[in-house]
Amino acid sequence: MNKILRLIRSSFFPERCPYCGKTIEYGKTACDICIRKLPEAYCKNFVKGGYPCCSPFFYKGIFKNAIKLFKFDGFEQNSEKLAIALARTINKEYADIKFDVVTCVPMHPKKERIRGYNQSKLLAKDVSKLISVKYEDLLLKKKNNIEQHKCLTAAERRENVKNVYKAIDNDKIKGKTILIIDDVLTTGYTLGECCKVLSENTNAKIYCATLCAKNNL
Ligand SMILES: [Zn+2]
Repeated sequence: MNKILRLIRSSFFPERCPYCGKTIEYGKTACDICIRKLPEAYCKNFVKGGYPCCSPFFYKGIFKNAIKLFKFDGFEQNSEKLAIALARTINKEYADIKFDVVTCVPMHPKKERIRGYNQSKLLAKDVSKLISVKYEDLLLKKKNNIEQHKCLTAAERRENVKNVYKAIDNDKIKGKTILIIDDVLTTGYTLGECCKVLSENTNAKIYCATLCAKNNL
């Protein structure tokens, strides 16, 4: 984009730091303060069922705020910048793995209409461009359950995700090496359930990545 176009764009849609929301110069991925807080190390976990998961950030401070801005405050454009950090972690952790397809944890269509976007799909699509692997919708959410973060106990979270997801087309999954993306890893029940559905009778290899994780092994 040339300088004049950038100037016009930034006066209408100022670039913002995805971690704190402050206005930043066009082309930067974070403000000078937040960029110094981006960690070198990342989180590693296993979701339910033993599937690996890597996440660039621990879910606290500016990273918890980044999720709030991106997911609840409507800053869907932050996906592009956040995906850079996520793709960097994926490239490190899964350096030896050749993915066939990137997908996301789906949102129920009714909820997606209300929010206007599925934050996990935006992240997954941006990551797919950055790591040069095609994006495909592989799962759908057939039941509009209550949100996981509204469940009080681990047992409730475990029950809440059961029989909620469905594979769209097993032929697109069979024998594939799949990277599934979500925004936050909490107990790992949601991703675990998605991995289970993806791997049922498909011989697919599934790996997970999320922007933030509440735990670190
Ligand atoms: Zn910032």
